[in-house]
Amino acid sequence: MKKILLFALVSLQAFAQDADKKKVLARIQQQESHYSAIAQKIWNFAEVGYKEKQSSALLQETLKQAGFTIETGVAGIPTAFVATYGQGKPVIGIMAEYDALPGLSQDSIPTKRSLGGASGHACGHHLFGTGSSAAAIAVKEWLKETGGKGTIKLYGCPAEEGGSGKVYMVREGLFNDADVMLHWHPSDANSVSTGSSLANKTGKFRFYGLSSHAAASPERGRSALDAVEAMDFMANMMREHVPSSTRIHYVITNGGKAPNIVPDYAEVYYYVRSPQRDIVMDVWNRLEKAAEGAALGTGTRYELEVIGGVYEILPNEKLAALMSSNLANVGGYTLNPTELAFAKQIQQTPGMLQTDLASTSSVVPGRPDPSGGGSTDVGDVSWVVPTIGLGTATWVPGTTAHSWQAVAAGGTSIGKKGMMVAAKTIAGTAIDLFKNPALIEAAKAEWSKRKGAEFKYKALLGDRKPALNYRD
Ligand SMILES: [Zn+2]
Repeated sequence: MKKILLFALVSLQAFAQDADKKKVLARIQQQESHYSAIAQKIWNFAEVGYKEKQSSALLQETLKQAGFTIETGVAGIPTAFVATYGQGKPVIGIMAEYDALPGLSQDSIPTKRSLGGASGHACGHHLFGTGSSAAAIAVKEWLKETGGKGTIKLYGCPAEEGGSGKVYMVREGLFNDADVMLHWHPSDANSVSTGSSLANKTGKFRFYGLSSHAAASPERGRSALDAVEAMDFMANMMREHVPSSTRIHYVITNGGKAPNIVPDYAEVYYYVRSPQRDIVMDVWNRLEKAAEGAALGTGTRYELEVIGGVYEILPNEKLAALMSSNLANVGGYTLNPTELAFAKQIQQTPGMLQTDLASTSSVVPGRPDPSGGGSTDVGDVSWVVPTIGLGTATWVPGTTAHSWQAVAAGGTSIGKKGMMVAAKTIAGTAIDLFKNPALIEAAKAEWSKRKGAEFKYKALLGDRKPALNYRD
């Protein structure tokens, strides 16, 4: 057994280091300024979920010019697309994201200062989309040059942040012909994602009451805000009686207009998360009961719009080992003096962990949680196709996602250097898969076993149409 393992390890390293792959990786590196400029444009567009018109168009144009065939507006989503090159099997897919987050406009400087925009790339998806496209284009060139058989596909996936964009694409069957799916995510360290993520379900609870003068005739009014508060109170009580890994969060998106008017309308936006989707569904059903109770007790009524819902990621050790050997082959990068000065300054700001700044140059052995404690619609993809991803240090070590510090670093050369590590690792992994069908078969066998023979995909968000206006 030991011998077999050793042999497997040695051959994986051999794959990682072969000569024509070396050429491909060098070529990606030569394109750094080209891809940095594209990422910077998307950083500036900072378009939120399903509104990524310019970002999606720029990536589509880039892929089209590189010789890909583009199918756009897929799964009923104007900013979703699939770019394809090649023919037949195997089909290796790479995911790209490009949505920004609302309310996180930030300049690319090490102090907190808004650019005055409505949103910012606090999850680094400008790098995600661009780096994945760079990898796909490099693999395409390699296929063309070597006359290799197979198809490389780049999936343009909008609205990852709460919009569950990939779920509609999965529901539509767009990934069905893919043999393996590859992805990555901006992070503060270089590491392959060996574990799972949190499943979630999200929705907006809308309460309808009766307005009246809050002082002159309050008895004639029924407050929708009271209903929201009653529901939130029950949800907060419920936290004690759910499995401890459950996360419940909400924001009141509408709480009325003025204190002297009894609000006849109020809205609260909820997320429920857990490592297991069954628990998510159970807690979610109880949350709906809380909404019902709140409406009953306050003399209001409510409507629910389910916004999103994603599966937890199905891990794959075989693919993780392959990607790890490629990441080790690519390695990290060092911060130059300007970047180091930036990093040191940002490290002093509130919310940062004091992580070693030299860690951008190293590779951390597999991180169990690819989303850093969050959820991702990559989860749904991983249950229909064997999937693997990595994180790379696009942010100053010690940075959390969804922070102004993440937006700032993503707008500098630090973000771009991390993006290049990801592009090269993904390209290398894809080339290995094209060259060695046995790797694909092994990944598929593990995947089939993990998901179980009984498994049938069913979207957690039901049959709703894409929530194209969820950010309005
Ligand atoms: Zn993200």
